Amino acid sequence: MTARVLVVDDLEPNVKLLEAKLRAEYFDVVSAYSGQEAVDTAISDQPDIILLDVMMPGMDGFEACRRIKENPETMHIPIVMVTALDQQTDRVVGLEAGADDFLTKPVEDLALFARVRSLSRLKMMTDELRARYATGKGLGVVDNIEIDVDSSETRIFIIDDNEEQAERLKSTLGEDHAVSCETDPEIALGRAQSGDFDLIIVSLSIESMDPLRLCSSIRSFEETRLTPILAVVRQSDTRKLVRALDIGVNDYLKRPIDRNELTARVHTQLRRKRYVDQLRSSFQASLEMAVTDQLTGLYNRRYLASHLSAMFERAQWTDRPLATMILDIDHFKKINDTYGHDAGDKVLKEFADCVARSVRGIDLACRYGGEEFLVAMPDTDMAFAAIVAERLRQEVAGKKFMINGGRDAIEITVSIGIASTENNPDEDSAQKLIKRADEALYEAKNGGRNRVIQAA
Ligand SMILES: [Mg+2]
Repeated sequence: MTARVLVVDDLEPNVKLLEAKLRAEYFDVVSAYSGQEAVDTAISDQPDIILLDVMMPGMDGFEACRRIKENPETMHIPIVMVTALDQQTDRVVGLEAGADDFLTKPVEDLALFARVRSLSRLKMMTDELRARYATGKGLGVVDNIEIDVDSSETRIFIIDDNEEQAERLKSTLGEDHAVSCETDPEIALGRAQSGDFDLIIVSLSIESMDPLRLCSSIRSFEETRLTPILAVVRQSDTRKLVRALDIGVNDYLKRPIDRNELTARVHTQLRRKRYVDQLRSSFQASLEMAVTDQLTGLYNRRYLASHLSAMFERAQWTDRPLATMILDIDHFKKINDTYGHDAGDKVLKEFADCVARSVRGIDLACRYGGEEFLVAMPDTDMAFAAIVAERLRQEVAGKKFMINGGRDAIEITVSIGIASTENNPDEDSAQKLIKRADEALYEAKNGGRNRVIQAA
């Protein structure tokens, strides 16, 4: 796996050393020599990970980190701070500035490569979501993301067969989060899947089961595939830690645990989780908007085109009838001409509500054209479709459509053509079924409107 790494240090020899190490492992390296240059290069080069020196003249590493994490264009890029001294206070300041991890100079190769690999892999998972989000935003259907971690809503799950250790973690985190513990790893796997947790903390000192197997299982379940995992390791367990990072553990803490570092790392993971969740839900929303008719809330024609063929094939395959009806509001142009387009839109919206109420959950209702609607009804024969259509026709004919803020009421009628696959078993496409329903609608219009006609 390759990734683009941005190396930042005010001293050229330090940059060259890291560059050489990373290039030898086939990483693509770009470099910067100051905090400001780091901020600019992060934007222009979009690296997969940043190795950031802390001590630099002018803008130091902490400030550069803060700025990179504040900018929506670069906030998703993981940052590893590189410090000369392993100072606990520095670590906490860095984590609070948004850093994802620390490496101590001189940088140890094993730790460096494990961290670069794991952080850039995690980033790639969010890159796909970011790309979809960008598409939605380009289409103007997605809002900006604002990350706000409300800790009272976050759920943390601790897995450790040492009850005392688990309880100690729980008491630290319990003030701000809803925390549950499990000492039996087998039971923990089930609970992790069903618990909808925002973060899972796993002790790598578990003895009753291989803790690395436990982590990789959590990673592989559909329900917890994207749930961050924070591993807790003994100071000397570097090899186990490297394996854990390769498996997909997001972050780690070494014992003895520093309370501030624990809080900061938990916060970083929760922030990242919230970010991913928002990317996913905004994509979902943009997807919905792309297939929904804005005015009526029904599906649009684009969705119908892609979905109706599948419904038609399923009907053939299961040998069950598929019925379609096309509905067209009579003399709709006159409403627009007489009362204006706002009134026309109001009528369309109310009419669509009638249609939506009359159909079942499995039916597909869509706005087919201006004042034309189509409903596809799986597992429905002509007789039943005719009942639904006639009931809808009567409801519309007997209803007052309110316009102009409720000051005026108008009456409308609808013509409906229906067709079912049962009358034409040799039909080989959904388009032909629609065409027959359309012909029936044409007949309904010619026959005087306000009626339902069944295709022969
Ligand atoms: Mg320096």
